[in-house]
Amino acid sequence: MTKALERVNTSDEQPVTTQVVIIGGGIVGVTAALALAERNIPVVLLEKGQIAAEQSSRNLGWIRKTSRHVSDVPMAQAADRLWAQMPERIGRSVGYRQAGIMFLARTQEQMAMYEAWHESVHPLELDSKLLSPAGIDQLVPGGKGAWVGGIYTPSDGYAEPAITTSAIANAAMKKGAILIQNCAVRTLTMSAGAVSGVVTEKGEIRCEQVLLAGGAWSRRFLANLGISLPTLPLICSVLRTQPMKGPTDIAVGGPNFSFRKHQDGGYIITQRGKLDAPVTLDHLLIGHRYLDQLRTQRSFLKIGFGRAFMNDLKMKRRWTSDAQTPFEQVRTNDPLPNHELNQDALNNLKAAWPAFDDAKIEEAWAGLLDVTPDSNPVIDRINALPGLFVATGFSGHGFGTGPAAGQLAADLVSGVQPIIDPAPYRFSRL
Ligand SMILES: Cc1cc2nc3c(=O)[nH]c(=O)nc-3n(C[C@H](O)[C@H](O)[C@H](O)COP(=O)(O)OP(=O)(O)OC[C@H]3O[C@@H](n4cnc5c(N)ncnc54)[C@H](O)[C@@H]3O)c2cc1C
Repeated sequence: MTKALERVNTSDEQPVTTQVVIIGGGIVGVTAALALAERNIPVVLLEKGQIAAEQSSRNLGWIRKTSRHVSDVPMAQAADRLWAQMPERIGRSVGYRQAGIMFLARTQEQMAMYEAWHESVHPLELDSKLLSPAGIDQLVPGGKGAWVGGIYTPSDGYAEPAITTSAIANAAMKKGAILIQNCAVRTLTMSAGAVSGVVTEKGEIRCEQVLLAGGAWSRRFLANLGISLPTLPLICSVLRTQPMKGPTDIAVGGPNFSFRKHQDGGYIITQRGKLDAPVTLDHLLIGHRYLDQLRTQRSFLKIGFGRAFMNDLKMKRRWTSDAQTPFEQVRTNDPLPNHELNQDALNNLKAAWPAFDDAKIEEAWAGLLDVTPDSNPVIDRINALPGLFVATGFSGHGFGTGPAAGQLAADLVSGVQPIIDPAPYRFSRL
């Protein structure tokens, strides 16, 4: 993971009772904890490893409406408002900047996709605009890429993942939430057909509602309760350069690279067109539900069949509350970065913007995404287990919407008017 991750000091003492338990200390769980604490609702958040140590600190930090599924754009718009209020709400900056996001097209086919998306979001009155090659040059000078055109949204931007979730966690604790790290939730307890608590590795906490915000682990947690949530893992590799003079503050996504400025003056870079897809048993069980995605994105995936398959196979799929679970065995998902992909990304970027010719790699890491068949998350109650809610399956784009997603989950748990229409995120659609 990035060495810049800011650690959080949390409690060691597990209370016997509370109103809401949140499972998972990523951006979604901690934002939900903050929203509930602000409403004076007693809440305990349990994290099996460290706050933000999985996806929420490893991502690129992009906060975008551009190229989102049209049904997901209202959540991104709500998140923009929450990002803007964040420094006042939590008492510090998390590096949020509306520096703009630009995507580039190398072929007419790619450009047609951006045009179609632009047309589809017309009723939402976004500030996105289509760009000509000259328009790209004007915004990000010094490029050598042969672009057909692009799309640009000035109100998109980024924040710093290495500090954001930790800062929100600290604010949640200040407002009364109890957070506990190194404390895995093994399973739920039920009374009279409804959730009545959780069993952690340290004992039971009685509660009225549970919110599962467990990222890539949610599928396994729910499967043990007889609920099938389709998500598959994909690995994205990232590198950070040393501080350098770059061409722009705008975040730019080309077909085979992306970059955005880090607050220390370096750049966060990834190979936008490629993800590692280590095959697991789940791919064989539910892979057919992803055929549509695979048809359009096959060239994006480096499918591998190896150690990941055996490691996953060895991990328990069923357990009881009195024995160690996979959540204690793997405190933090920490996949190795694919240095070859990272180097390709940097080479592709140098070919497009020679300003990166002297870029020096400071560090590299990778993170494991939890992808649903339609790439939208699930934020909903689970009808089969009254009292259980989930906010999970963010499919590689949940940092930007995290503040609104966590708030929506808190709204559903506390029964208040939801911040946005939750319909696109219903579990039943899957
Ligand atoms: C390399 C990479 C790049 C990305 N880039 C972007 C980007 O630029 N913009 C964007 O919007 N999104 C991006 N994403 C996606 C984004 O990071 C995620 O969608 C988001 O962080 C998901 O947050 P989360 O809270 O759902 O999950 P996580 O951050 O994964 O948190 C889940 C937590 O739950 C804990 N947990 C699970 N089970 C248990 C249990 N039983 N008991 C206790 N704790 C448990 C885990 O340890 C984990 O800490 C990227 C992701 C990666 C990996």
